[in-house]
Amino acid sequence: MTPYSPITGDIRKQIVEGLGAERIVSDPGRLKDYEEDASGLRYAPELVVEAESVAHIQTLLALANRYRFPVIPRGGGTGLAGGCLAASGGVILSLAGMNQIRSIDPANLLAEVEPGVITATFREKVREKRLFYPPDPAGMDKSTLGGNAATNAGGPACVKYGTTRDYVLGLEVVLPDGNLIRTGVKTRKGVVGYDLTHLIVGSEGTLGVITALYLKLIPSPQDVACLAAVFKDLRTGLSAVSEIMGRGHLPSAVEFMDPKCLALVGDLLPFRIPGENATLLIIETDGIREQIAKEIEAIGNVCLEIGATHLLPAPDRESRARIWDVRRQVSLRIHESTPIYMAEDIVVPISRIASLVDALPAFEKAYDLRIYAFGHAGDGNIHLNFTAAAREDAERMLKGVVEVFKLVIEMEGTISGEHGIGEAKKQFLPMELPRESIRIQKAIKEAFDPNLILNPGKIFI
Ligand SMILES: Cc1cc2nc3c(=O)[nH]c(=O)nc-3n(C[C@H](O)[C@H](O)[C@H](O)COP(=O)(O)OP(=O)(O)OC[C@H]3O[C@@H](n4cnc5c(N)ncnc54)[C@H](O)[C@@H]3O)c2cc1C
Repeated sequence: MTPYSPITGDIRKQIVEGLGAERIVSDPGRLKDYEEDASGLRYAPELVVEAESVAHIQTLLALANRYRFPVIPRGGGTGLAGGCLAASGGVILSLAGMNQIRSIDPANLLAEVEPGVITATFREKVREKRLFYPPDPAGMDKSTLGGNAATNAGGPACVKYGTTRDYVLGLEVVLPDGNLIRTGVKTRKGVVGYDLTHLIVGSEGTLGVITALYLKLIPSPQDVACLAAVFKDLRTGLSAVSEIMGRGHLPSAVEFMDPKCLALVGDLLPFRIPGENATLLIIETDGIREQIAKEIEAIGNVCLEIGATHLLPAPDRESRARIWDVRRQVSLRIHESTPIYMAEDIVVPISRIASLVDALPAFEKAYDLRIYAFGHAGDGNIHLNFTAAAREDAERMLKGVVEVFKLVIEMEGTISGEHGIGEAKKQFLPMELPRESIRIQKAIKEAFDPNLILNPGKIFI
């Protein structure tokens, strides 16, 4: 296949003629805004197109196929895997301006939105109609619904409600060849044909450009109840999680912090942490006010029975916000405390979280690293933040990451639960996926995109 063309003066002229100069960003100062996402990687795009319609996208893709240059879809740029970066050069296609909520339909519990709608804005608009869109990725103040679908984003609520994929009923997608298709349904169910919707969800902008989403909504829970519980060690804390679920409770969030994380944020709690092995759980339930008040009390009692040393109930919005701020501060303080870090988001079966975290000190010693573990105890998705003393330690840190990934896979886990593969993790893909699976996935990519112009070089090497 011919190599990718640079964006020559002639191609640029045709893009301007086709889309209008006001939609093109080529000023070096403004191009810088598109060089990075939240992965720490950096690639300068040759040009940016800020699309406002399907026709703009189709015009750009027609030119991309004719001259063979890469087009990289971009939403809020909050991705943690470099998926929206111009790693092979080409044009960044920003969908941020296509940000209309077309409809919220309480009678059918459905919404139709454009891809650039900010996740938190949508959740709020839906809540005003007493409806609920559960996916709650922590970057939702800036991330877009199109980006969430492309990465199948999830957050603390996954334990009860699942990920973005569970709420996407159908999509409108511009395929790499410029054809517009609708996938899926606008009903609560549908099984006609292959499930292209859920193939495109999680495909990280490699199979098509999402231009509209049909989303499933559910009735809004009346209220939320929250508590934090401290345990003398991680195993005790995690055994409380199994016990809570085993007794029939399904919390809407179960987050944990390992002792190293707790030590970093312990000053934000209103009591002394009981020893250097102590661990923290944050548990939420949602539903009918009277029921969840009883439920959170019962969950607190399970925690005490299992050996919680302190309980911190958060009965109102303010105290709940304070508890979640403790959780938010963990990442910030880890990043402040180190010149270099790698943020991984592995998943292991819930019953193996403690074994994985217990194994980390051996890797810390072998590779002279500090590894912080926190995240979603309810679904086994652990954020592992690898840190080292100096920037020059990057290579050694990478070796440590690879060894931890090997253990995760041995434990029947996966190397990414939320962040995706993008550019940052494609080197690790063959560790988890068999060769035949990668072959089929590459064939799917080629069926959608024979000229390999849409977000090339992502996911697969
Ligand atoms: C502070 C912080 C906290 C985070 N917490 C979480 C978390 O809890 N859970 C989680 O899952 N993630 C989390 N993330 C990662 C990030 O927010 C998600 O991956 C999010 O879904 C990315 O959305 P975005 O709009 O920013 O997409 P971008 O970063 O712009 O793009 C991400 C990928 O989607 C593709 N894409 C974007 N829009 C489209 C479209 N319309 N059509 C086709 N492809 C498209 C891009 O090509 C790229 O591959 C966090 C990030 C930050 C910075």
